[in-house]
Amino acid sequence: MFRIRRIHDDTLSANRAALEKVQELLREQFPDLPEERVAELPAQLRDPLTSRFRTVVFVAETREGLRGAAVLLHAPDLEFCFLDFIAATAGETGTGIGGALYERVREECRILEVKALFLECLPDSQSPVQKPGFVPQVQSPLRFYSRYGARRVVNTAYEAPINPGDTDVLPHLVVDDMGTGRVLRRAEARAIVRAILERRYGWLCPPEYIDMVVRSFVDDPVALESLRQSKPNLPKVPTKAAVAREAKAAAARELKAPTAGAKLTALAPVKLSGPKEARSIPSDLRVLVVANEKHDIHHVRERGYVESPARVGVIRRELGKSELFEFHKPERFDDSHVTAVHDAEFVRYLERMCASLKDKPSVYPYVFPIRNPARPPRDMPVRAGYYCIDTFTPLHFNAWPAARRAVDCALTGGHALLQGRHFAYALVRPPGHHAERKTFGGFCYLNSAAVAAHYLSSHGKVAMIDIDYHHGNGQQDIFFRRADVLTVSIHGDPQFAYPYFTGFADEVGEEEGEGFNLNLPLAEKITSSQYSRTLAQALNRIRQFAPSFVVVCLGLDTAKSDPTGTWSLRAVDFEENGARIGALGLPTLVVQEGGYNTRTLGVNVRHFFRGLWEGAATAKRRHEFR
Ligand SMILES: [Zn+2]
Repeated sequence: MFRIRRIHDDTLSANRAALEKVQELLREQFPDLPEERVAELPAQLRDPLTSRFRTVVFVAETREGLRGAAVLLHAPDLEFCFLDFIAATAGETGTGIGGALYERVREECRILEVKALFLECLPDSQSPVQKPGFVPQVQSPLRFYSRYGARRVVNTAYEAPINPGDTDVLPHLVVDDMGTGRVLRRAEARAIVRAILERRYGWLCPPEYIDMVVRSFVDDPVALESLRQSKPNLPKVPTKAAVAREAKAAAARELKAPTAGAKLTALAPVKLSGPKEARSIPSDLRVLVVANEKHDIHHVRERGYVESPARVGVIRRELGKSELFEFHKPERFDDSHVTAVHDAEFVRYLERMCASLKDKPSVYPYVFPIRNPARPPRDMPVRAGYYCIDTFTPLHFNAWPAARRAVDCALTGGHALLQGRHFAYALVRPPGHHAERKTFGGFCYLNSAAVAAHYLSSHGKVAMIDIDYHHGNGQQDIFFRRADVLTVSIHGDPQFAYPYFTGFADEVGEEEGEGFNLNLPLAEKITSSQYSRTLAQALNRIRQFAPSFVVVCLGLDTAKSDPTGTWSLRAVDFEENGARIGALGLPTLVVQEGGYNTRTLGVNVRHFFRGLWEGAATAKRRHEFR
């Protein structure tokens, strides 16, 4: 089994290693390709300005390593893609890797909503050894692409020799409309062909040659030949059939209308299928859901304890209705990840205290020795208040294992981002964002999101955005003196909302971390557009910070009729907010925090993710050359 994933950049070591393998593959499969073309691939990914294409790399991998790759060039300004390379490793022919890669490329083109996918092919009969420098970039023969309905552009000088008298066979230009039946108009084809030749082959093709090829596109719409019907060897001397075909083609051109049944085909415009069509979502673009399967052992059976096991069930049910999600079991991570952000004594206390409560009643903190932090009470149950910020978050036998497993879920999601996933979702209970370095409270014991953010921070800067109704005091405390993790929180003003003592706008970070904590407290009653404006402000700060990863503390207690909040966001608002966050275009880990109205919780989560996904897809389509 192989899996296909997209490489976004070369900042992660997993991606760097994969890119090196892709370069090896290109050298092996295209020996005539100049070394500088191969060497520039990582730079091309980082900097679309120089090549004037956004470069998209797909790799097909097994446990043993790289099995194939495709390099796609996206021109957002002209709304087309050009398949630069597609190849499988030696010995992989017939295993379906080429086909799977090509299908993934087509899916990407649909998501990018480009007009068409262009590629180059030699006629089936031609050997792939060509003029040095102008190598066939695409390994497979024409007939391979014909299976997907790709068609050769005909009646143009695209294959004309670069220098008069050259005898080399140059590749055909092939166009794949991804099944939309969209017509290719002359004007757009001219602009696209000019872009391909200038941006991709500018080093090889003189301007006069490019002008000549562009001018040779006279048909409108551009004439295309069905590859399925093309002969393996194009005759040098016109046969009767070819003459007849030409006559028919000329007639078609005169009519400027598609001809039915002829080899020249042009189809009626069809609206592109949007990314909302769930079936078109490739596996590597789905949201990886890591659910805490141990969450329900944590069950505080008390009236009014709204943080109930039912919450995860309603979310799971809603996610199951969409193809956008892919479920994955959590992996086990070492405790050192936890103690990297939490006080080791505090962690040991939580574990030992919970373990001591088998078959015993829960312990509610009741003494808060805040005046003498140097003296933790000796008695274990009494000591609970030394580590807690409120009186409603009990310790009991299962609180520790559930909270610890939630951390594993968040770390598994974070690890998936390092492996090249775009979106991961830790669907966990208990929540974590109120857990500070040395305290628990607010239904939270360990700050799963902060643990994952710290883990990611060794691979690049991390921005945490907390959109729970309540202030994310936990990660604020944990990262207050750090400049490599930006913490942002939008919440009900602590003047009236829990936790009451943090979340004010003047808490901006300390020492190195000064300016790297942003609190955006809001009034008791707000409109969804006020919320939206505040979110835009938060995201501007994140853009300015330029992180490599985003961690979202997702609270749905901002929703209408939440028992712990005062705001009235609806599903449509969550979708819009998700889209704004997705538009950052960054690998994003979402960690479940609050949200207690179980009638709407699941629907709101699903809408949030739909927005997140759409936002990311739109960002890719509108991507300006940075
Ligand atoms: Zn909350």
